[in-house]
Amino acid sequence: MPVLKSYRTADSSNKITTYIYDDVTSLVAFDFGSKDIALNDVKNLDYIFITHEHSDHFMGLYHMQYVDILLNSNCEIYASNVTKDLMIAIFENSLKVSFDERSIKKIRELLSRIKGVLFFEKVKLTKDTYFRLFPSGHTYGSSMIYYYGKTNKILYTGDIDYASNDGDRQYRLDLKENETVDYIIADGTYLDNEQFKDESFSQIRDSILKKGFDKFYCKPEKIIFFSKKIISSPKLSDKYFVVFSKEFKWYLSILRKYNFDPFITDQILLESPYELPGGKKALYVSSKRIDEQTNVNSIVGLHISFKDFAYMLVEQFNCAKTKILVGHYNKESKKNILGTFHSSLETCDFDVTVLEEGELEL
Ligand SMILES: [Zn+2]
Repeated sequence: MPVLKSYRTADSSNKITTYIYDDVTSLVAFDFGSKDIALNDVKNLDYIFITHEHSDHFMGLYHMQYVDILLNSNCEIYASNVTKDLMIAIFENSLKVSFDERSIKKIRELLSRIKGVLFFEKVKLTKDTYFRLFPSGHTYGSSMIYYYGKTNKILYTGDIDYASNDGDRQYRLDLKENETVDYIIADGTYLDNEQFKDESFSQIRDSILKKGFDKFYCKPEKIIFFSKKIISSPKLSDKYFVVFSKEFKWYLSILRKYNFDPFITDQILLESPYELPGGKKALYVSSKRIDEQTNVNSIVGLHISFKDFAYMLVEQFNCAKTKILVGHYNKESKKNILGTFHSSLETCDFDVTVLEEGELEL
């Protein structure tokens, strides 16, 4: 019997982010953010798929016990080209300070073995199994994984976003007719509500306008998303000009390499703001904490709401036999997720399970 094992991440969020799927013929990891995976499973892994560069989805790749095993195994590790570059750069720019020289060498070696692939491309694994990556819209280069396995066909969404008017922040699924899906493993972060999508930005906007904050810190991809929102908000763009801090350069250069939105290339990179166009004030953004006054906001990243997800379900699956397994949920949302599905998709009889840590036969 095929079995799915769900694991919690080793960080403070403690969400389920890592899934080990025993396909009977292959052992597969969808993300690798846990340090609780049995060593024997790590030894027997055939493939690891990393959806994106957030550490709760790949921190197992710098857990030394796993690193040693993986360096001596034939396990193949896959990610999109952009994600691979970002994972390496994040390790070099921030994570490596916590390791000694020997461990740094080993982790570097492991990260360099990641096979970068293109979105939509069919990548053959064995005679009758393959996978494809689809953009998930959550970060630049983030993927959903379609795994065409020997037994079940699985769509693992990873963390996914759907932001209107921002093509880089929208998932895109393009399955062929014969590419059925038995199970969707879904991002459940905010699957129980819709308000969060505008609330986080309006909070920031109000704090800029009322309280006069002029410095912001959060993760790089959120900074870009947030800066684009500022520019499209007339109240703010009349008064403010977004200034990217210089330490941000490594991130922008990777995005430039992969030809993302020209918005990214047009930003000013400065150590500190000086003469700005049209007498506007500087709104200084950084992915590193600048000082005590910095307004730290970590909720700018959106994930998907139930509505976004339902759109995908109705468009692509239309009440088909696909079963939905929800992971990565907030503790507070958990009790509402099932209710949301059943009340909003009454006419479609989707089979929904909220995943718990542990094993599930598929
Ligand atoms: Zn994420």
